[in-house]
Amino acid sequence: MELSQEITEYIKEITRNCYKPNTSLDIFKLLKNLNIEFWTSDMNGQSDLSGAIVKEKDDKFTVYVNSTDSEKRRRFTICHEIGHYISYKCNSYSKQEFETNGFIEDNYSVLARITGTISPAEIEANQIAAEILMPEIRFRDLISREYSIDEIAELFDVSAQAVKIRAKILGIEIGENKFAAC
Ligand SMILES: [Zn+2]
Repeated sequence: MELSQEITEYIKEITRNCYKPNTSLDIFKLLKNLNIEFWTSDMNGQSDLSGAIVKEKDDKFTVYVNSTDSEKRRRFTICHEIGHYISYKCNSYSKQEFETNGFIEDNYSVLARITGTISPAEIEANQIAAEILMPEIRFRDLISREYSIDEIAELFDVSAQAVKIRAKILGIEIGENKFAAC
């Protein structure tokens, strides 16, 4: 799945001032810019629930992340949830998801990130998360300058695994020697 042009342009616009000088995304600045409320929660001990985004009727959004997950996983999860928000704003997959598949109660809708859940809205949210954490242009630039997987992971403040998945999705061959972790 490729992100639509509308989404990639929207991402550029909202993240413009959110990257720290060292390259990594300032997630809290982005949440603030988008006026999304943010909470950590132990999810009542539900360890397969890494995060969720709640949309209220008046389009007020709140992101929750599982406080027991590792710092890097929480970072990815928050961006995944922001991904649902971006998709909603751009009338993409999460829009229908919020309107039909969310657990609708009186006046709010919830999308939860549960291990193993696969749907176009979830795949798209993961891709948006990868793009805002590791923008393609900057990612390709670091690869072409022969940074290692670990160095790239450190610059973007993501896991080495996330860098490998990003490279695979962008169709970038990872030479075992060149990019192998030291
Ligand atoms: Zn999700």
